[in-house]
Amino acid sequence: MSFSQLGLNDPILKALADVGYSQPTEIQKQAIPIILSGRDLMAAAQTGTGKTASFVLPLLQKLDAQAGFSELRGRSIRALILTPTRELAVQVEANIVEYAKYLDISSLAVYGGVDSEAQKDRLMDGVDILVATPGRLLDLAYQRALFFSDLEFLVLDEADRMLDMGFIDDLNKIIDRLPSDRQSLLFSATLTDDIRHLADTVYDDAAEISI
Ligand code: AMP
Repeated sequence: MSFSQLGLNDPILKALADVGYSQPTEIQKQAIPIILSGRDLMAAAQTGTGKTASFVLPLLQKLDAQAGFSELRGRSIRALILTPTRELAVQVEANIVEYAKYLDISSLAVYGGVDSEAQKDRLMDGVDILVATPGRLLDLAYQRALFFSDLEFLVLDEADRMLDMGFIDDLNKIIDRLPSDRQSLLFSATLTDDIRHLADTVYDDAAEISI
């Protein structure tokens, strides 16, 4: 099984060749076709399985395909990836930059613990993919530094860690603000009752995979 057999397009295949991935990992084989088909997804996968690329690659392809139709407006975002920590936000955004090398898709990581002025400036022109920790994301939303009306994709990455870190109230406040007509993806190391409860607030009928 190759990345091209999964339905990924040439600019993405070229970027994958540049980073030296020869074939998809198990989570990538399973998740990429589901995400490309437009279905919501709940996936149990540990760090180290290649989970980041399993959602970033199809997300890039879908955003690229729709680029001509939806103009990026100021302070709007098209995809939101929530992560538990600043370190993970930075790492996911760095992966996006690598995989989007041959695409015209912008990305930004925002997180707490640093001044928000530079983050607000970057959001002024709109960003295709925003990677954020929940607290800072809410701060920026309350300050009207970003709008969710054009949001098409939501990803909760390491959802179990976000719950462990006490982000449930922030997550609920964020999810409440998002357009309901969106594709949602949830990744977690384990699928506990708490995760399933959170999933119920995110979507109705998601495909489920476990690696
Ligand atoms: P993750 O599980 O997303 O943290 O990824 C773990 C590591 O695997 C990262 O360093 C990725 O760059 C790498 N990786 C992801 N997909 C592949 C692949 N298909 N082939 C080789 N390495 C990969």
